[in-house]
Amino acid sequence: MQPIYEGKAKRLWTTDDPSTLRMEFKNDATAFNGEKKASFENKGRLNNAISTLIYQYLEKTGIPTHFVRQIDETNVEVKKVEILMVEVIIRNVSAGSYCKRTGMEEGIPFSQPVIEFSYKSDALGDPLINDDYIREMKLATPEDMAFLRESALKVNAILSGFFAEVGLKLVDFKLEFGRLASDPAQIVLADEISPDGCRLWDLKTGEKMDKDRFRRDLGNVMEAYEEVLKRLKARLETNG
Ligand code: ADP
Ligand code: UDP
Repeated sequence: MQPIYEGKAKRLWTTDDPSTLRMEFKNDATAFNGEKKASFENKGRLNNAISTLIYQYLEKTGIPTHFVRQIDETNVEVKKVEILMVEVIIRNVSAGSYCKRTGMEEGIPFSQPVIEFSYKSDALGDPLINDDYIREMKLATPEDMAFLRESALKVNAILSGFFAEVGLKLVDFKLEFGRLASDPAQIVLADEISPDGCRLWDLKTGEKMDKDRFRRDLGNVMEAYEEVLKRLKARLETNG
């Protein structure tokens, strides 16, 4: 069997059901638009486990997502969507490209979440775009954008609380949305939510517990992902 899509961190496979796909988490890691590459033993398993716990939690709180079920350690079944080519980034604290763009130092909390959009295009390096670009590029309608903003803020509120309960600050993260293949009028949260696409800082020590450990060669990358999983699991075992 051949995957229908192979990306930087995951593969997509068809299933017997035309409305669902199998999404496989690979051990590959990339950063800086694919310029930096590595492979980490267990990364696929850890991201799948973390993302599955988060999607199950979001579904329980009423957020519509593509998640169907975990198949095994590195595979999930998801509803097939047509991905909107707009990446939604939500920031609670200054970091990463926000600091590069503005000159602001890292770690300054925002008075309200900052939402930004980028065009999902590896060839162009995922450039920052705004609602006007998105409308004219026909990536999404203004109504879709209102829904994306509202959903992103809801997810941010839910996940900021969820991570805070396990001693982690949700600094920023990226979301992707898509139109259900079975009902294109419905937009759901898709892709993954894991330390690959979130900045998570330990609330007590300030330690980075996410892909910045790889980006910045801080070491102990998988140990940090393992710790995030351990805390989320413990939280769900005690509070459901
Ligand atoms: P990239 O494409 O950036 O290299 P990945 O390696 O994570 O990223 O590949 C996963 C791809 O699958 C992404 O392009 C993502 O937009 C897409 N995707 C995620 N969820 C779904 C889904 N439910 N249906 C169809 N495509 C999806
Ligand atoms: N992010 C991502 N994929 C992208 C761009 C960003 O998952 O293509 C995540 C990233 O991990 C971080 C947040 O979105 O948690 C904000 O990233 P930023 O814009 O600061 O970019 P970076 O400097 O990390 O590339």
